[in-house]
Formats: sequence, structure tokens, C-alpha cells
Amino acid sequence: MDLIALPAFTDNYIWMLHDGTDAVVVDPGDAAPVAAALDERRLALAAILVTHHHGDHVGGVYALRPRLKGAVYGPRRERIPEPFVPLADGDVVELLGHRFEVIDVPGHTAGHIAYFDAGRSGAPLLFCGDTLFSGGCGRLFEGTAEQMHGSLSRLAALPGETRVCCAHEYTLSNLKFARAVEPGNAALARYQAECESLRTAGRATLPSRVAVEREVNPFLRCEVPAVVEAARAQGATGTAGADVLAALRRWKNEFR
Ligand SMILES: [Zn+2]
Ligand SMILES: [Zn+2]
Repeated sequence: MDLIALPAFTDNYIWMLHDGTDAVVVDPGDAAPVAAALDERRLALAAILVTHHHGDHVGGVYALRPRLKGAVYGPRRERIPEPFVPLADGDVVELLGHRFEVIDVPGHTAGHIAYFDAGRSGAPLLFCGDTLFSGGCGRLFEGTAEQMHGSLSRLAALPGETRVCCAHEYTLSNLKFARAVEPGNAALARYQAECESLRTAGRATLPSRVAVEREVNPFLRCEVPAVVEAARAQGATGTAGADVLAALRRWKNEFR
């Protein structure tokens, strides 16, 4: 089974999973890179998975529909180009021998979902859209800090070896912020150096791993004393995880 990150727009990745014959794509915001990848590898498009309704995640669905053999799957509580199979927490989608479990992860959008494959053979796999990024998280457009904190906590509890397939290459700017939050985090400094060399070589920093994110991502570390302290210095109103996350998110929005 091959996992490929197709670059789209300026910093999106459209994830493609294929077995040499059939492919599944996640969040095709643009049809062109998907069509090119299918043609180049002579693959059929078996299904489309959508995590949330934003245009850079669903913009290519309409144009891909004629070559789609199966269905479009998406969050039940959001407006996705019809027709689609509506999914919510606990639902399961079986595709190309993978068993994807749906996890509700509200916060970035109200109905955002993630797809988790526990990996019967290979390493577990997570498609998390714009909820969890490497070193960061999505902006709170439609949800609260409490919701995002709950969503990220669920993702952080997945097996450490889970490959984290995020929808944007935001890693370096996230890590710059993470260093400001936790200047004393040695694992973070090492990871930043690794990601910088990947980007210099023109390579993606993704997929990440859940175990790595637990060590470097401040938004998954809202209970770590150094992170709580940094958030308090930025005006966090309490020490609960959601208070810390709210302060980090506000701080990050203005961080350059
Ligand atoms: Zn989005
Ligand atoms: Zn996006």
C-alpha cells in the first residue's frame, strides 16, 4: 500500500492511498493534481474521503466525480458537495483493505471528522484535515477552545506510531511558535532541525507521528507545566487544558 502526499495550492496536501490498482484520496481541494497522479500511475479512483467543508478540501470533488467508482464520504454535520455518505463518530468505512474509524474532532469547523485506521498490517494511519498539524492545530473558526482541546486529546491518545497525515505543510512556522512557547524543549529543537533539512531538500515534513506530536506540539501539551506557565504569561485565564489552549491559539494567531 502506497501513501502519497500530493501538493496542491500553496501549502495543501491531498493524501492518496493506493494498492497499485485503486486509489482513495482525502480532501481533494483541487482535481488537477489528483487526476495527474491517477493517470501517471494508471489508478482508478475508488473513493473520496472528506474531513470538513472548506473549499481547499472539497473544491475538486465535483470535477473528480465522473472518474469516481465508489462514493464520496464526509462529515454528517457539514455541507459537502452532494451526494455523499454522511459519517459521524464511531462510523466505520472499509476501503482497499483498510478499516477507517471516524472520530468527531470539532473545533476548526463544527462538524470536522478525522479518519483513523488502526493498521491491521502496517502502521496506524490518521487523516486529520485541519484539526491537528505537525507542531500546531487549526484555527478555531466554528468551534470553541474546549472542543478543540477535547478533539486534540482524543488524537493524542492514539497509538504513538500512528502516521499523522495533516492537510497543510505548516510545520516550520508552527515549530517556530512552539519554540517560543517551550524554549527548553530539546526534543522540539531536534525535530525543528530535522524538518528544516527536509524542507531545504524540497521534501514534505509529513506524515508526522503521534508520539512525536506529543513531545513537540504545544497544543497537545496544555497540561505540561512549562506550557501552562507560558500560556499564563500570555493571559490564560486559568490552568485547565482548554484555558491554556485558548491562550496559545490567540497568541499563535498574532505570532510572526
Ligand atoms: Zn479548513
Ligand atoms: Zn485547509
